[in-house]
Amino acid sequence: MGCLLPATAQPATPSVNPRSVEARSSAKVIKVATRVVPPFVIEENKRLTGFSIDLWRSIANEMGVQTTFVVQPDVNQLLQTVQSRQADLGIAAVSITSDRYKSLDFSQPILESGLQILVRDESASHFSPLSIMAVFFSPALWQVLGVMVLLILIPAHIIWWLERRNPQGMLSNTAYFPGIFQACWWSAATLATQADEMPKSAASRVIAVIWMFTSVVFVAYFTATVTTSLTIQQLRGTINGPEDLPNKRVATTAGSTSAVYLAEHNAEVLEFPRIDEAYTALLQKKADAVVFDSPVLLYYAAQAGRGKVHTVGPVFRRESYGIVFPPNSPHEKAVNEALLTLRENGTYQDLYDKWFTSKSPQD
Ligand code: GLU
Repeated sequence: MGCLLPATAQPATPSVNPRSVEARSSAKVIKVATRVVPPFVIEENKRLTGFSIDLWRSIANEMGVQTTFVVQPDVNQLLQTVQSRQADLGIAAVSITSDRYKSLDFSQPILESGLQILVRDESASHFSPLSIMAVFFSPALWQVLGVMVLLILIPAHIIWWLERRNPQGMLSNTAYFPGIFQACWWSAATLATQADEMPKSAASRVIAVIWMFTSVVFVAYFTATVTTSLTIQQLRGTINGPEDLPNKRVATTAGSTSAVYLAEHNAEVLEFPRIDEAYTALLQKKADAVVFDSPVLLYYAAQAGRGKVHTVGPVFRRESYGIVFPPNSPHEKAVNEALLTLRENGTYQDLYDKWFTSKSPQD
């Protein structure tokens, strides 16, 4: 059950439509279902404000009707209240979807919206000792080590073979063992650009020079591999766009279009009645991200969530908000007409600027 909030505490709007006076004498009261979803519907000291509430009050003024709000805990219950005609219509941040349109009617769009992702502000990324340890277990590093062993063994054998017949050569013992160990030491030292002795025969010097250049290339390859695997580790596990959502814990509101999207894309969905509870789950690290309507997330990121959260990635599913009616509502035409008048006389723009331009620095 929703709670009833009379809209009578609202100060009278100065410009009253002539038709309003006529309608008011018959004291028509419209019952409006809504739900708290800042900045569209905000509840402050038992009083409702927000873009959708202001817009509705302007429409009601145009139509010359009084309003009683019925506040519902989530969007599903808002829709049910309208469908069962316990309310005349509903307004909040209700997305117009084909599924909802099967059993309900919608006004003309009242705002363009879409889904976006909100994540926590993490402290500046740094290489932790744990992530450096993890590099040693990465397949990329084992590959580098394999190449390194080959790059030590091959030239060591060539040098041993060329130097073993030269008594004044680099090898103090020309037998395969221990001669090859000394050759391996030389090629390992060269690989690390640290060679302290040089082969003596002309042929092996040619090999040595080629080998020195190969070593420089190898060191660059080694550095690149380690840096890349550290970077990949930094990025893995973080969410940068909708493609990263599968298998992540993602919070949103119950019955929302976001909940449907997340379930279809194999995310672990955490559904809460109020969007505030989804924000809390994110801040308490019970969720990896929040997916919800972009204007709602931007408002939170710019206000209460400033310095704690930020949006990532694009608006990935465009949606429009509408006022929702039961089928064949007697109010639908008058509401649409009022909405068009408000667009034409600038009231709609004033409300838009009030809630999305001056209040939210990100817009
Ligand atoms: N735009 C969302 C929807 O209509 C809002 C959901 C909500 O208010 O929780 O599904």
